[in-house]
Amino acid sequence: MKIMEFGNGKKRICLVGCLHGNEVIGMKVINRLRREGVECASVKAIIANERAISIRRRFVDTDGNRCFPGKRNGNVEERMAYRLLKEIEGYDYVIDIHSTHADMADTVIVTKRKSLNEARLRVPIKNIVLMGREIAKGHSLIDFAEKGISLEFYKKRSVKDVSMLVRQTIENIGEGKRLKTKKEVYRVTGFIQRTGRPFAIRNYRLVRKGQPLMKDGPRIVRSEDSFYPIFFGERGYKGLCMKSVKE
Ligand SMILES: [Zn+2]
Repeated sequence: MKIMEFGNGKKRICLVGCLHGNEVIGMKVINRLRREGVECASVKAIIANERAISIRRRFVDTDGNRCFPGKRNGNVEERMAYRLLKEIEGYDYVIDIHSTHADMADTVIVTKRKSLNEARLRVPIKNIVLMGREIAKGHSLIDFAEKGISLEFYKKRSVKDVSMLVRQTIENIGEGKRLKTKKEVYRVTGFIQRTGRPFAIRNYRLVRKGQPLMKDGPRIVRSEDSFYPIFFGERGYKGLCMKSVKE
């Protein structure tokens, strides 16, 4: 785990990258922001899973964002989680950077209503996903933060653009700035199991009840209800995609 502090301000923000070792954008963004500096906030930046980064894998022993609060004498990721929670102690804000194979618009993920308001007001990204306990079952990093925000970027997004969005978020928190841009909030209602070869669907584009989803041999699997797909195309998840409804 690598820890760096930079920036100057009353608001203290913990910025975490590479909870998943193969999502190196977090590390690149942290290095860039440290080089360029940030205004109006004190940042503690943490490159979390260096062991997984070195072997270019999502994790070594277990998914690093599903094992909080971790264990003092556990496996690689459990020890990382345990230590990370000590590091975020006393920080009101945790921003956690991820990347995804899913071709989808930039996405803010929150797991608590309390964090939803921060996502609306401070993050210059339109799509917000309220995840509840369906995915990480209360064992993700942001579940343990006072105000926790995960940011998901399609893997082809540039370090420069992602850095700018993260910087703006940090500075908006620091300045107490309130964004007035319109946000779309999607609440995750579950997963769709993958039981065949998927037809193309697009993230955040409404799938209607009865629409073909997969081809399972001769059988066409149709959607049982209408929903907005999220994370279709992500390899880190087992299912076809997440289902959501607009709030
Ligand atoms: Zn991730």
